[in-house]
Amino acid sequence: MITVSQILRSKGTAGVSTIRPGASVASAVEMLSSLRIGALVVSSDGAHPQGIISERDVVRELGRRGGAVLNEKVSDLMTGNVVTCSPSDRADSVLERMTEGRFRHMPVVQDGGMVGLISIGDVVKARLAELAMEKQALEGMIMGN
Ligand code: AMP
Repeated sequence: MITVSQILRSKGTAGVSTIRPGASVASAVEMLSSLRIGALVVSSDGAHPQGIISERDVVRELGRRGGAVLNEKVSDLMTGNVVTCSPSDRADSVLERMTEGRFRHMPVVQDGGMVGLISIGDVVKARLAELAMEKQALEGMIMGN
């Protein structure tokens, strides 16, 4: 069964994109756009997650209150209660937590420090590859190939 650490390794990109809680929402939007990602971990030291801000938070508040939101702080819009996972967690359990909680990003934490971030797309890709391999192995057993 594929684990979070295997998914991180296959992603190849080290490090997590973080933003400080006091930064403006406009600067978060700039980062999301230039990095082509959907969420930033909110952290003062880059190692300990204090929150998470995703494109969904920004769009929701823009829709509610308009462009003035861009001048507010990241800490005003972020979700403070971040659900994290560990490198040894299994892909299917992470997928279940993301589906249940209706969010698509999860920081990976080990010994209190952040070691990566996985998106639902990363997990689905890994699970599909794993299921295809299992199918091939089962077909081999049945057909004797
Ligand atoms: P997302 O699907 O990741 O764009 O996020 C949907 C909502 O869930 C937004 O309000 C995010 O701030 C929040 N969110 C995203 N990831 C997490 C997480 N790992 N733990 C808690 N909330 C999250």
